Amino acid sequence: MQHCRITRVTPYVVGMGWRNCVFAHVETDDGIDGIGEGSMEHQPQGIAEAIARLADGHAIGRSAFDTERLVNETVRHEFARSPIVNSAIAAIEMACWDIVGKALGVPVYALLGGRVRDERIPAYALGWHRVGFSESEISEAARAAANAGYRGLKFDPFDTTARDPDRSAIERAGGRVRSAREAVGPMVDLMIDGHGRFSPASAIAIAQAMEPYGLYWFEEPSDPDSSATLAAVGRNIRTRLATGERCLSRSSIQAVLETHEVDVLQPDIVHVGGIMEAKKIAAMADALYVPVSFHNPFGPVATAAALQLDTCTTNVFSQESCCAFDVPWRFDLVENAPRPVDGHYEVTTAPGLGVGAFRPEVAAAHPFDPQAVPPLLMRR
Ligand SMILES: [Mg+2]
Repeated sequence: MQHCRITRVTPYVVGMGWRNCVFAHVETDDGIDGIGEGSMEHQPQGIAEAIARLADGHAIGRSAFDTERLVNETVRHEFARSPIVNSAIAAIEMACWDIVGKALGVPVYALLGGRVRDERIPAYALGWHRVGFSESEISEAARAAANAGYRGLKFDPFDTTARDPDRSAIERAGGRVRSAREAVGPMVDLMIDGHGRFSPASAIAIAQAMEPYGLYWFEEPSDPDSSATLAAVGRNIRTRLATGERCLSRSSIQAVLETHEVDVLQPDIVHVGGIMEAKKIAAMADALYVPVSFHNPFGPVATAAALQLDTCTTNVFSQESCCAFDVPWRFDLVENAPRPVDGHYEVTTAPGLGVGAFRPEVAAAHPFDPQAVPPLLMRR
């Protein structure tokens, strides 16, 4: 059997529209290479630096087959949990899974339990409304996204809203949600994301104001740092509460789950430190019968990793997808970037993550962009 000992790890920072994405290209002595993604909303250069440093300290010389040990030793050695370290670990771990799958000629999901679904993976759309924020623009964009076949549409209707918005700001947001609902009809799920902005009382008032529009979930209504606060909100709203993208570990996920107020858990495969950690977290949610929907606003490799888990995880709800609303060249970064058709992803049977070769020349053509910062968070 091939050992696939890691010989080189090369980080890439790629300016991609509203964010910089980070990738790790991992090469082995058997000539098999893999690609992983370590994108976070901020600090891309810090993550790239961490990838290089963690590779030297923990990955070079190790077999790509030993992912569990690689992650465990790296986490324990680095001591302080940090999103930068987690994202760097995830990039390397993801690339190792890609390598292992290629070496064995099987997709990653076949190594993690195999297929639990025969059908395609349903997606919900993110980023569909970027054209504008007027009610007519929202209406037109929502209709177009629904016609593209997505099961649901998610957006943040709050714009520059403060922690405790006044009534007119809530009504403006409500008007946008109403426009989307009227455009798509009752059968398409609508979700809103508060990005953790609101005080508990304001979050509850907003959820009540949105009730006529039949939201599927209210995501991060208040700051997810406090699971007690989220629980207080959850107890007082009738809409499903979704959260989890900013959790970094099994322990923080457990605190959130133990509130019994989270209706959909949204682990981010990068933020938690990789595919295996996300799989474990999905099982923790499943122990409480909570569905998961992997957070996925980044590049094509993180999307491919999410799809591998979607394929082999029983309690997946739907896959967040920004592909169709992203920079068009995201599909050029790898040979076979995932692309939803009719609002669904086909299950790939290609080996590893299924993305084929990474194209460094495309990454190099789009270097770090200091302007590429999530716009919503900039305006807060
Ligand atoms: Mg979110």
